[in-house]
Amino acid sequence: MARYTDSVCKLCRNEGVKLFLKGSRCYTTKCAIERRRYGPGQHGQDRKKQSEYALQLREKQKVRRFYGVLERQFSAYFVQATKQKKVPTGLRLLQLLESRLDNILYRSGMVPSRAQARQLILHGHVTVDGKRVNVSSYELRLGQVVSIADGSKKLVKQLIETFPSPVAPNWMTANLENFTASIINLPAREDLDQTIREALIVEYYSR
Ligand code: SF4
Repeated sequence: MARYTDSVCKLCRNEGVKLFLKGSRCYTTKCAIERRRYGPGQHGQDRKKQSEYALQLREKQKVRRFYGVLERQFSAYFVQATKQKKVPTGLRLLQLLESRLDNILYRSGMVPSRAQARQLILHGHVTVDGKRVNVSSYELRLGQVVSIADGSKKLVKQLIETFPSPVAPNWMTANLENFTASIINLPAREDLDQTIREALIVEYYSR
């Protein structure tokens, strides 16, 4: 599947929620969903009654787009999540998504969006335990330290100053002075977005 190249704000309007895909703009009144709280296109304002399947599909698409993951990768995460028997599959799926390197960089407050994080990683500006990693989906383990490569700290400092981001969640540490971040505990369900209905995603894949 090709990567989505149209306006990302349309994705938020289509799902009816903010997916925070545009960095600092998402926190301003310029946010498209603040201005037009209906779907994009000619039939965007039509009221539609959704089937159970449509609800499951939309929830899956919403979460997939929120984390910027392609379809095949997302279903691979689901399969991986089902293998962990001690944690509910839906929660494990969210934990896997939260442990992605691009997500941790974004959550740390060093970059204003996951898309920006992916760009930095791809261009070799990010290290994990001192080694350069250029794979956005890299699964970070507890205690591993994400850092910005020495030659790239000036660039990230500018990003931090220009686009102040929300503070890092309590299940990870972030030091914006040293440009480091780390997971201290996997997030519990109450630490994660309460609007996500992961049970619908589990149902979608269990059909
Ligand atoms: Fe979504 Fe951000 Fe665009 Fe608002 S500004 S519609 S949150 S991508």
